Amino acid sequence: MTILTEAVRLTIAGVVQGVGFRPFIYRLACQNGLTGYVKNIGGSAVEVVLEGSSQDIERMVTQISSDKPSAAVIESIEARPLKAVGFREFRIVESDTSSHAPSNIPADMAVCDECMSEVLNPGSRWHGYPFNSCAVCGPRFSVMFDVPYDRANTSMREFHLCEECSRDYGDPGNVRRFHVQGISCPRCGPSLWVEDARGEPITTSDPISYVASRMEDGKAIAIKGLGGFHIACSATDDEVVRALRSRKRRPSKPFAVMALDLRVASKLVHVDLRSEKVLISPERPIVLLEIRKGSPLSPLVAPGLRHIGVFLPYTPLHHLLLKEYPDHFAIMTSGNPPGEPMCIDEACAKDKLSGFVDYFLLHNRKIVNRVDDSVVRFTDGRLSFLRRGRGYAPKWVRLPVKLASPVICFGAMLQNAGAVAFDDKAVLTQYIGDTDEYFTSLELERYLELLVRNYRIDVRMATVKHDLHPSYPSTKMAKDWGRRHGVQPDAVQHHWAHILSAMAENGLTEQAIGIAIDGTGYGDDGNIWGGEVIRCDLRGYSRLGHLSYVPLPGGDLAAMYPPRMLVSLLSRTMDESDVIRFFHRRGIIDFLPHGEDELRVIFQQCVSGSIRTSSLGRVLDAAASLLGFCQRRTYEGEPAIKLEANSREAAPLIEPILGGSDVLVLDTSAIFQELIQLLGRRSQGVLAFSLQYALGRGLAEIARARARRGDRLLVVSGGASVNTYIMKGITDGADERFRIVTNSLVPPGDGGIALGQCLADPRD
Ligand SMILES: [Zn+2]
Ligand SMILES: [Zn+2]
Repeated sequence: MTILTEAVRLTIAGVVQGVGFRPFIYRLACQNGLTGYVKNIGGSAVEVVLEGSSQDIERMVTQISSDKPSAAVIESIEARPLKAVGFREFRIVESDTSSHAPSNIPADMAVCDECMSEVLNPGSRWHGYPFNSCAVCGPRFSVMFDVPYDRANTSMREFHLCEECSRDYGDPGNVRRFHVQGISCPRCGPSLWVEDARGEPITTSDPISYVASRMEDGKAIAIKGLGGFHIACSATDDEVVRALRSRKRRPSKPFAVMALDLRVASKLVHVDLRSEKVLISPERPIVLLEIRKGSPLSPLVAPGLRHIGVFLPYTPLHHLLLKEYPDHFAIMTSGNPPGEPMCIDEACAKDKLSGFVDYFLLHNRKIVNRVDDSVVRFTDGRLSFLRRGRGYAPKWVRLPVKLASPVICFGAMLQNAGAVAFDDKAVLTQYIGDTDEYFTSLELERYLELLVRNYRIDVRMATVKHDLHPSYPSTKMAKDWGRRHGVQPDAVQHHWAHILSAMAENGLTEQAIGIAIDGTGYGDDGNIWGGEVIRCDLRGYSRLGHLSYVPLPGGDLAAMYPPRMLVSLLSRTMDESDVIRFFHRRGIIDFLPHGEDELRVIFQQCVSGSIRTSSLGRVLDAAASLLGFCQRRTYEGEPAIKLEANSREAAPLIEPILGGSDVLVLDTSAIFQELIQLLGRRSQGVLAFSLQYALGRGLAEIARARARRGDRLLVVSGGASVNTYIMKGITDGADERFRIVTNSLVPPGDGGIALGQCLADPRD
């Protein structure tokens, strides 16, 4: 009896490169007794040709979906029947370089459990090896010079496979190392060493134990990691933390803490099932979690806050260090000079970090691309990004439309990321940082250029987009690109772009009502916006309502000193002498460097008409000052973060009041009058909650009042949409007709704004 031979060609698209997918297909084919081949086509798909009995082929197709490697994402499997040609075996065929299909650049992945158990097993040849990795884990984007992800295109090309590693590479039975690009071992891979603060090498046979004991002595160590340098030191010793704060000129911004494992993390913070899943995920971000009562952390790690950022080791190096270090957790903060990007090479570290640290723990694998740790939090129970870096970037996001021509977006200014988009894909750069700093703005350009090169984008054929703010460095950079390549750049209004970012990642193109809330964004009337309700689609927007305009006394100073914003809000309803008396009574006068004289000047600035703002962030600043949680901003968002951290949920006490006619206005000065009436009658925490809730509720009421029949979508974005209490107010204030849509793949703050810019089509 002859078995009928069938043949089929599968095209499998998704995240299928750099994740052990071809070896996986190879093994399945062998197990099922099928012949044919597998090869990469472009970078986002593989082609599989199978020959054998239809039963075996069918079984294998099912197994592809059910047994795929953990890091692989299958977006589609397309099957086409073929005429069998009689393959005699199954083979992995070399990448087809003729294909011009764009690649999804693989993101870095945390070390997997199997690699880690080899590192911890005294009998394994990877015992104690800080750079172990396999098909489903290890560095990817951070070591890549170019696509596709082949060893020759990464900084691992410096390290030639030893005999044993070569054998693993060529052994189809070796599930985790067969044809895996980044593998190495202690014989052939990168190595570690220690230097002191002056750059003198320290002789030690065990660099990791050496620095662990120095940390025990209270020393700070600059550690070259995966995507850049960290500074590590004790998280329990007040003196050590205080010293780091003064050396880094960082008075109160919280430090992230790395904990050896979930058990150790649970001693520091409350870890529930939901946060556990994120903590141990291959992306392994920093997760903001509530500090446990009686936690051994020094109070100086996160002064005045209820949450700290905790993460687990994502390389064997970090794991081995924390295993040796007796606390099993430590401060692990990014190694950068104030205002500058994190160092990625020895020269930068020695030049710029030697004043902060006592030792350097270094290795000889080049970090090609800087990738900061990602930071996430939970907002009213759902995950939101504060920073999208390692583990996530630069994976692409699917757009709900197919673009006619490629787009290059420069984002906004602070905590910025850029993006390129083509077809139905948008690729955001990793988190870049505050691009008002010169060195950081150069990084934006560098990584946009990298994406442009990798995706073969012809800038002359592309649309260039930037924020509407005329003096953002990113706006100037976009205009410069436009001039250089002969294209006319488009300006996209900030808050419209925020709403579009949430629409993009949720696959929405229809008209929606958007609530965009943040600290600052340039409005089309020349004022600073930030508490906006708009109706929009991909082609434009109209303003339905906003927070009332209040003065921004002293411009940038107003954001630096929250008491200034308090004067601003009070100046609408109180006269100068009342405000002075109020500031004395509450003791807030002491926080104005020049006391009453300064207060009079600020008041005059307010009544004589300075720049005006509808920023929600500035209202939160004023509340943080009034309630005594923050009188001086030392890091971005500090007053708002402290206000939220000190809030206590209760029955809401403040009724939002809407005014205006055509465009509705939520009167924030009236909210402050209500708040002042309640001072002393309820706890500061309850008042803080009530204020945030009232702001959210008031904005949702604007949306409701301006909704037409058929309006179903309420899209909420902007940096302040990570605030749990504002979101509660919005959710309660919007009625059941609305489906509330938020960001979950990119930050709702300015780190995600480039995604929205990609989708904006202001010329249409
Ligand atoms: Zn692994
Ligand atoms: Zn080796």
